Amino acid sequence: MSTLLDRFLRYVNVETTADENSDTYPSTPSQLDLCRMLKDELTQIGAAEVQMTDKGIVTATIPATIDGKLPVIAWFAHVDTSPEFTAHGVSPQIHKNYDGRDIVLPKVPERVIRVSETPELAKLVGKTIITTDGSTLLGADDKCGVATIMTAAEHLLKNPNLKHGRIRICFTCDEEIGHGVDHVDLKQLGADVGYTLDSESEGIIDTETFSADQAIVTVHGVNTHPAEGKNRMVNAIRILSDFISRMPWQWMSPETTDKRDGFLHPYVLEGGVAKASVKVLLRDFDSGELPKKAALLESIAAALRAEHPKCRIDVDIKRQYRNMADGLKKEPRAISKAQDAMRALGIEPKMNIVRGGTDGSRLTEKGLPTPNLSTGMHNFHSPLEWACLEQMETAVKVLVQLAQEWGKA
Ligand SMILES: [Zn+2]
Repeated sequence: MSTLLDRFLRYVNVETTADENSDTYPSTPSQLDLCRMLKDELTQIGAAEVQMTDKGIVTATIPATIDGKLPVIAWFAHVDTSPEFTAHGVSPQIHKNYDGRDIVLPKVPERVIRVSETPELAKLVGKTIITTDGSTLLGADDKCGVATIMTAAEHLLKNPNLKHGRIRICFTCDEEIGHGVDHVDLKQLGADVGYTLDSESEGIIDTETFSADQAIVTVHGVNTHPAEGKNRMVNAIRILSDFISRMPWQWMSPETTDKRDGFLHPYVLEGGVAKASVKVLLRDFDSGELPKKAALLESIAAALRAEHPKCRIDVDIKRQYRNMADGLKKEPRAISKAQDAMRALGIEPKMNIVRGGTDGSRLTEKGLPTPNLSTGMHNFHSPLEWACLEQMETAVKVLVQLAQEWGKA
């Protein structure tokens, strides 16, 4: 599987950091460089219907090797990397036959991947670990996914004796800034079930995500010169501060919750005397709890309106995404086939819940049931990011087996 490592190194070499302040799509033109590279490679390995849209969405087909009406499966990965850390000049360090010790990143030696903080490393002695030099992130999220799909596709195209239905491949842009599926045309894709290759480690199937809304709370005050403020000024900053202090934080906050508990999370604050606003994330695994969280914000606003009759307070709720589990119920085979594929390889699958969203949450909501699978990445969005080559190889084998599991459908 040396081609898997070569591929991965080729892809991490292309800087594809997403930019949330951009108003183009994709948000950075360099993402298109990787999309073009993938389009060319898909053509070279003999994929059919290779296409790239002006938005950078790359699609291709691995034709069916058996006749009959079988479900069409789609594999997704995103080409962009997180804006949380630079990916300029990624210099991958390959630790062959890993010795089980802490890994000091050579360019920034105070950055150390410690076994005590990363217990999974202890189980990977003798494997090949790929890290950064400490000065960038690696981009394993999600170039592990891209390399996994490309390698599985090449394997299936070279081995038409393996029995499977039609498989669609889809590479997306700007996942890290929440726009991964904005320009995916599900009709053009024509799949019945999807898999994002965008989860960490090995043997994990992400089957649930948060349901998510965003609130923007805006206080409109009245500004005057402070010398003439008596009985006239209404300070939006003061009222908004009061609003935030009345939100629960001893519970129902990211700082105090884990596992299946949701939260309210104020995360952007801006404004002045005349107008001030805060953005708040509403998160819960139970979609039915989101309106209750919104009602709590509204009740705080109502109390403050009564105390400050001259101010206006708006609470605007925007729908973001819904728990993937809601939509996966309509195609339970999406999960069971992935479990079958892992068990066929001797891996006991671990079902996982994600305290966030994935492209799969949005695809599932749009009608394409799409759980998320492991690809061998770890510590993503950080200069301590790393990948394990053998776990990536497992991800390739899982995809090849998954294709055949659906071929039995
Ligand atoms: Zn990702």
